[in-house]
Amino acid sequence: MAAKYVMEPFRIKMVEPIRLLSRQEREKAISRAHYNLFYLKSEDVAIDLLSDSGSNAMSSAQWAGMMLGDESYAGSSNYYRLMEVTTKLFGYDYVQPVHQGRAAEKVLFPLLLSEGKVAISNMFFDTTRAHVELAGGRAIDCVVPEARITQSRAPFKGNMDIERFKLLLEEYKGRIGVVVMTVTNNSAGGQPVSLENLRQVSELCKEHALPLSLDAARFAENAYFIKQREEEYKNRSIEEIVYEMFQLCDYFTMSAKKDAILNMGGLVGARVDGEMALSIKANTISFEGFSSYGGLAGRDLEAMAIGLLEGVQEDQLRYRIGQVEYLSALLEEAGIAHQTPAGGHGLFIDAKALLPHIPYYEFPGQALAIELYKEAGIRGCDVGSYMMGNDPDTRKQMEAEFEFTRLAIPRRVYTQSHLDLIAQALIEIKKRADRIKGYRIVWEPPILRHFQAHLAPVE
Ligand SMILES: *Cc1c(COP(=O)(O)O)cnc(C)c1O
Repeated sequence: MAAKYVMEPFRIKMVEPIRLLSRQEREKAISRAHYNLFYLKSEDVAIDLLSDSGSNAMSSAQWAGMMLGDESYAGSSNYYRLMEVTTKLFGYDYVQPVHQGRAAEKVLFPLLLSEGKVAISNMFFDTTRAHVELAGGRAIDCVVPEARITQSRAPFKGNMDIERFKLLLEEYKGRIGVVVMTVTNNSAGGQPVSLENLRQVSELCKEHALPLSLDAARFAENAYFIKQREEEYKNRSIEEIVYEMFQLCDYFTMSAKKDAILNMGGLVGARVDGEMALSIKANTISFEGFSSYGGLAGRDLEAMAIGLLEGVQEDQLRYRIGQVEYLSALLEEAGIAHQTPAGGHGLFIDAKALLPHIPYYEFPGQALAIELYKEAGIRGCDVGSYMMGNDPDTRKQMEAEFEFTRLAIPRRVYTQSHLDLIAQALIEIKKRADRIKGYRIVWEPPILRHFQAHLAPVE
């Protein structure tokens, strides 16, 4: 597959300068940051691929919408505009704005989970897992086995493993509080979930009278993959596919900082208006603010209404996913293993394949992320043992299913030459990979350690 770049379906009218540090300055900066990329100052970063969350460029229409902010405490016109859009896209009776995805989780999960309950998912995102645990529940991942084989070309590596899911339904009968489908499957490399798989999970949930919640951060990217890869849907519009995905579920939580192309925002929804909708509203009022603003300014609600509609535009998705595919093709040519076919929102480099001499307890994914920063000022992050391999019972270091370095691509921010530079940096690193050393943790907090831990190089 030769690298082919899809033209940006926009032109640029506002720019933000990038400051370039010397290698020596970068080495100082990362050491000052305790070898934790979350502690770097963003002005010390040349190409910031830490996350595609909230790091997107809004459109001129969104910025114009910001000027229409109705900042009334209750019932702002922007709220009603947002509700019109969410009703059209998702068809849910009750949709509640909140300030970001984890706020949606905090509002919804305690209503479905309590001490001793379990939650099953194709794979939990880290904050989602944390909110399951904070509600007293246990989070169980049940992704298809091919997700773990980075070189496998299966089209829907984000799917739930249906056979194992059926076994879990029996094993935990009476103790399952909620089933969560994450689209796209973030932790498995932004891999999509097919509509067929979502429908099977939905049917099994109905059979067992279990609520199904969609973790919908990348709902539009998932719909685009369905259109590309699921024969039955190739002539359906993105909006039709999105509608069908949501209708198969009972609830959804959404970080609107992803496919809704915002800098801040989230949603939580209930397909049917009833007791649960009332409880969601009550929790929102306690944690987030009155139900017609949910922790956001009126202007943010307007930008969300516009962003949701831009996010499902097919030319936007073709360009967006095209960027990831372009970078994937460059790495393929250079023999750098990564999760393939490339997922929706970034490249997941197989750090174990690139740094086979670094054991999981010295965090190959984190070591590669640090090396990329030293090499070219590129900031990615670990999705491997450093992030996930923390046993909640024993607090011991565990081997994770994946050892990835994630390079997340913000929407509408970087251009082809930035992507070329990323590939170049990885090629340089590959040449001297055997000399790269691992890291150890010198301090860590009890949960979500990757955000805060301090590390040091292993000598
Ligand atoms: C980003 C994300 C979240 C959490 O959302 P925030 O807006 O960061 O709080 C939850 N689930 C998935 C799949 C995500 O990608």
